[in-house]
Amino acid sequence: MQNVDITIVGAGSAGLTLAALLAPLNLSIVVLEQGGAPRQQAATYQRVSALNLASQRLLSHIGAWPAIASSAAAYSQMQVWDADSFARIAFDAQTEGVAALGHICDNEQIRLALYQQLQKQTNVRFEFNCNINSLVQSERDVLVNFNQQQLLLSRLLVGADGVNSAVRRSMQLPLTHWDYEQQAIVATITSTVAHDNVARQVFLPSGPLALLPLPAPNQCSIVWSCAPERAAQLLALDNNGFNQALTAASNSVLGVLQLQTAPQAFGLKMRYASSWLRGRTVLVADAAHSIHPLAGQGMNLGLMDVAALAELITQAVADGNDFSEPRLLRRYERWRKAEAQTLIAAMEVFKRGFSNSQPLLKLVRAVGMSGINNLPWLKSQIIAQALGNSGDLPKLARPTARYGAVV
Ligand SMILES: Cc1cc2nc3c(=O)[nH]c(=O)nc-3n(C[C@H](O)[C@H](O)[C@H](O)COP(=O)(O)OP(=O)(O)OC[C@H]3O[C@@H](n4cnc5c(N)ncnc54)[C@H](O)[C@@H]3O)c2cc1C
Repeated sequence: MQNVDITIVGAGSAGLTLAALLAPLNLSIVVLEQGGAPRQQAATYQRVSALNLASQRLLSHIGAWPAIASSAAAYSQMQVWDADSFARIAFDAQTEGVAALGHICDNEQIRLALYQQLQKQTNVRFEFNCNINSLVQSERDVLVNFNQQQLLLSRLLVGADGVNSAVRRSMQLPLTHWDYEQQAIVATITSTVAHDNVARQVFLPSGPLALLPLPAPNQCSIVWSCAPERAAQLLALDNNGFNQALTAASNSVLGVLQLQTAPQAFGLKMRYASSWLRGRTVLVADAAHSIHPLAGQGMNLGLMDVAALAELITQAVADGNDFSEPRLLRRYERWRKAEAQTLIAAMEVFKRGFSNSQPLLKLVRAVGMSGINNLPWLKSQIIAQALGNSGDLPKLARPTARYGAVV
């Protein structure tokens, strides 16, 4: 049997970022991942995430940001409009005093950059293609049985194993969930009009369509959320039919749009674990909560979870305290639950508000959006939240001087 300080289950963006943040503490850390190691390859943009400035600062601190940024696209403007009314709102980096509002990053490149940083650490070990057989909690430790025969005794176990978390299930942590009754169609597309580094999102009565700029001037990643029946219809179309439907849905804002990769659909569910810890086991990121991708905040939220947990653990180690004591884990849970609940509620307002064609509601949202667009102070408050420049941020993610000045 091996004894370690911390076991992290899941080598996604959250698990790897946590390992990188904890590595300088010289604790022994093992990362258990059911899949293979991130592979050295060029960005495919099959799955992308809009990372905000708070995430950028965190990943810069770890040293992973330059490699991530080398294949990412910075966006300097955001345009959001309602297909059903005159409502529109726009944000730009210059007005907010930042170099960019965020970056569209390839998810696999994020993992690769983090993994490469971690390979420099002798106290972090990986077990890829790992199959967890059981988790047993005692008062002071957690025992992991994996790959049939191997036993690992940890002072702390972190479930960073995504939406279908086996850690969450094994610890019987209750989950609240509801179906957004939408699927997100994701693909890379080309456009006849250059995107000009603008992230665009149109709210259609059937759901939002995001056009996220990629490094090539005429290439975007789309996230098109709609009812499962509509998604099935769209996916059944040939490329020509899909391209026509997509171009029409986008109001031809970037001219004619054409698929470059086969569209993939993801079911969308809100998930929220009502308890994030049991004994010496704690959940982070998608294992604890998942939200609608319409505001591009899921990964940002998860990265702030692990930054918060790492901050509390670092402080406990510095003070010579027990870093896995339930009191500390509860503090982490209280801190991050408040942020997750706020975003879950905001996504609900957006999703319900924009998928309703009732005339009065249409008028209210049109007046509301246009009103906000003409109120610079209120607009700045909203954008500061989206950029990750406000809220109860972990120290490493806070803006230091001015927005975006750190990196
Ligand atoms: C369509 C779509 C668009 C999105 N766009 C954005 C965006 O623009 N911006 C943004 O911030 N967020 C976005 N998100 C959300 C974002 O993708 C997720 O929040 C983020 O990837 C979650 O990271 P994670 O590390 O928690 O989980 P994951 O990335 O799911 O990683 C979990 C890891 O755990 C491993 N694992 C699972 N089970 C086990 C097990 N039993 N044993 C060992 N390992 C295991 C998995 O193999 C995986 O490597 C989007 C989501 C969707 C669906």
